[in-house]
Amino acid sequence: MLKGKTALVTGSTSGIGLGIARALAQQGANIVLNGFGDTDGPQAEIAACGVKVAYHGADMSKPAEIEAMMAFAATKFGQVDILVNNAGIQHVAKIENFPVERWDAVIAINLSSAFHATRRALPAMQAADGGRGWGRILNVASVHGLVGSAEKSAYVAAKHGIVGLTKVTALENATTGVTCNAICPGWVLTPLVQKQVDAKAAAGNISNDEATRQLLGEKEPSMQFTTPEELGALAVFFCSPAGNNVRGVAWNMDGGWAAQ
Ligand code: NAD
Repeated sequence: MLKGKTALVTGSTSGIGLGIARALAQQGANIVLNGFGDTDGPQAEIAACGVKVAYHGADMSKPAEIEAMMAFAATKFGQVDILVNNAGIQHVAKIENFPVERWDAVIAINLSSAFHATRRALPAMQAADGGRGWGRILNVASVHGLVGSAEKSAYVAAKHGIVGLTKVTALENATTGVTCNAICPGWVLTPLVQKQVDAKAAAGNISNDEATRQLLGEKEPSMQFTTPEELGALAVFFCSPAGNNVRGVAWNMDGGWAAQ
């Protein structure tokens, strides 16, 4: 379905970003990966889907590096048709104890990076398909883009912000073939959440299994993690022809978290 298209997924060396990149590659899209840590494994995994893959190591907290990544993708594959703004970090502390430097980093990586990548991706998307435009911008927000949780001020502010950015991006392009939507996962067992499970186990002197059960029990009625594969399938839907007129939604996949 996405053969000949190029998808750039930020923060795609791990977790949800890698799951979405894999799902788009399985539909035939060429992929630009980004993120830290092991890059050879994820590149080999995507190449095994029979598509072209490239990697750029831009630090998503740095606007100049984001610009360089967008230029790199255009040079490599012609243009970016699908942009998935996914890179994100977490920091957990009460506001009065929240390190200022962590606030700035969370806002930069989880919110401002999406603005910088989107503003560089839009002109080519708007010009695609003979000027009618074609493009898909998917912002990986969170259920924390819809509801709050204590001790996550920067994260909740950034995720509510990216839901707002999603609506404005969708509206500014509403008469074109460029759509923008947000994906709002509940708990997904990735390194980002494993750190929170480990902290809970250590703080309560309880097992990892018990900490996991408590974490899910506090928020997610289904008592199940959402998986990167499920989120990948949702991303594929937004990129499909059936997604042509889905504009500015924040779609939660959260086991009932926000329904409470
Ligand atoms: P993860 O830690 O597994 O992956 C994060 C990715 O972002 C990695 O590839 C990492 O290298 C990259 N990254 C981090 N800082 C970066 C930077 N400065 N520049 C470039 N890349 C950077 O986390 P995840 O759980 O897969 O999270 C992905 C997204 O999903 C985040 O936006 C997160 O807020 C969101 N999310 C996660 C959950 C969850 O439960 N795991 C729930 C809702 C939303």
